[in-house]
Amino acid sequence: MKTALEWKTYYNSPEFLNHYIYEGTDLGAVCTEEGTSFLLWSPSSDKVTLNLYRGGDGGRAFRKMPMKREEKGVWSWRTEKELHGVYYDFTIERDQERIRSADPWAKACGLNGKRSMAVNLKRTNPEGWEKDAAPPVPGERIIYELHVKEFSWDESGGFPEPYRGKYKAFTCTDTTLYGDGIHPTGIPYLKKLGVTYIQLMPCFDYGSVNEEGDVREFNWGYDPVNYNVPEGSYATDPRRGEVRIREMKEMVQSLHRQGFRVIMDVVYNHTYSLDSWFQRTAPWYFYRVHEDGRVSDGSACGNDVASERTMCGNYILQSVLYWAEEYHIDGFRFDLMGLLDVDLINRIRSALDARYGKGEKLLFGEPWAAEGTAMEGGAVPALKKNLQLLDENVGIFSDDTRDTLKGSALLAEEPGFVSGAPGLEQEVLGSASAWCLGKGSGQRAKAPSQIITYLSCHDNQTLWDKISDTVPRQERMRVNRMAAAVCLTCQGTPFLLSGEEFARTKGGRDNTYNAPIALNCLDWERAWQEQDLVEYYRGLIALRRQLPGLCDKSVRAAGRMSGLYAGGGVVRFLVDNRDKERESPWDRLLLIYNGSRKKQKYLLPEENWEILVDAESSTRWKQREPAGKTAFAEPLSVLVLGHRKTRAAEEKETMAEKETA
Ligand code: CA
Repeated sequence: MKTALEWKTYYNSPEFLNHYIYEGTDLGAVCTEEGTSFLLWSPSSDKVTLNLYRGGDGGRAFRKMPMKREEKGVWSWRTEKELHGVYYDFTIERDQERIRSADPWAKACGLNGKRSMAVNLKRTNPEGWEKDAAPPVPGERIIYELHVKEFSWDESGGFPEPYRGKYKAFTCTDTTLYGDGIHPTGIPYLKKLGVTYIQLMPCFDYGSVNEEGDVREFNWGYDPVNYNVPEGSYATDPRRGEVRIREMKEMVQSLHRQGFRVIMDVVYNHTYSLDSWFQRTAPWYFYRVHEDGRVSDGSACGNDVASERTMCGNYILQSVLYWAEEYHIDGFRFDLMGLLDVDLINRIRSALDARYGKGEKLLFGEPWAAEGTAMEGGAVPALKKNLQLLDENVGIFSDDTRDTLKGSALLAEEPGFVSGAPGLEQEVLGSASAWCLGKGSGQRAKAPSQIITYLSCHDNQTLWDKISDTVPRQERMRVNRMAAAVCLTCQGTPFLLSGEEFARTKGGRDNTYNAPIALNCLDWERAWQEQDLVEYYRGLIALRRQLPGLCDKSVRAAGRMSGLYAGGGVVRFLVDNRDKERESPWDRLLLIYNGSRKKQKYLLPEENWEILVDAESSTRWKQREPAGKTAFAEPLSVLVLGHRKTRAAEEKETMAEKETA
């Protein structure tokens, strides 16, 4: 038996590198009407047997076939039969050991992902799938993070009983509060809110929930078992491998039809267990090991996937392309992206660009790791400090923005700018410019396309709980409105945790990955109790989508900002809101973030300013209310003013355009 370090040495040897890197894209089971092929990459095995089963769980193999050793460490077996719905796994003999493994490249599986399944993917397409396409998202990408089960679990959502907690809930397009027919929940609620991208927490097959266990079992799902298969506990029948595939496609199709794009949360940095299909088929190839023999654990989940190794990087790249192609996924959020290497992330970016157009599929991630990792061969981790090395269209969650605005996510009691903490004005300016400007301490970005602007996500406390820990009761709602107004007027891509807009609470808890579903689920009743706050978010979203000056993701965006002022708890700046391609009623914006507890007075330089947003309302812009000569920003609030384009200015623009033409 080789040790982990001996394997590592072998995998880095010229002998291995020259003979066992397989460049094909046909690994796994490929099943069509013409036949089925099974290809497994398992370079150091002595013998591999393919076992075929009728069921995905229990029962003996009805056929056992020795696989043929091909070049580059690949084992194969082929038939002219279409083995759609046949389950399989492998028996591997290596160094006098016999090991059973499912297929790391599987596209379908049985109950709890233990056996793989051959699938003719054409047979899993819902009706109309060939016409399915991502809807246009005019104005802005506004990301809303949702967990499949949290979305529809609570009775208040009014979802049909069999669909609660399932993919199918996303096909319900007219749900209301307890089915009262009046107050929208679920999809119609989200349409009204105005968000444009739904980000789904892990939907690939994960290991922490028994797919046939108690229906109340809950986990966020950051524990991958089968990377290329949907999770079974969200399907109406986890035993039949094709059902979860069809139902996940139905979910995407329905979201597309309702005007949303879909982002998938992908967790390529670690697997549920070190004893994975990767490990069983190619020991230690897919994992990092320290020089002293310790297993690398930068994920704090027991293992780190070795993205920098050729076959592993190829696996991740092909997996992303598969979800984009087969499931029509519109974007990818990489969990602990700081554990993957810059080169791989940039390769994924260019592969997506080549297939779908530059920047069309979103790609962003967490630019950090839980701990250090044993990345090899001089590879560079996709950490925040290496942002400049990442493609302009690779985004990162900005913890600098998050912590500046609301206070540290890790120190519950620490306030931020919106909760009155002093000395953060430069950081707020940095946040506002998506870290393209300002003297703040955050990492410089190439363009706002690299920055995800957010206040809360599934990790850490909800925004409301954080505010509750840092602000007196009577100020909390005001501070929440201010936080939302700052977040939704910063450049970069805005991102919300589901329910943030209705003061979602998890009772102050900060890491609820395996807490009961009753604590994690969306409480649709609260969405109606807190509808004033929901309206405030909604107004901000609707306004933002009309402001090209804030939505600009290009390197030119920073140049739109001028008149920067930062001091005494106040941040103020102007934004050039003109845009060649997009009309807006206002040619300039004036933003005042008043983080002080004093009312701020500001003399307006000229006439024709209108109040767009103030402390109480985010829909003032609908009323075309003149601001007069003096603007007042209430304590702990945001004031947004728009300069109404005058006829003279419009004529001047037209003239200028004619001249340049
Ligand atoms: Ca599972």
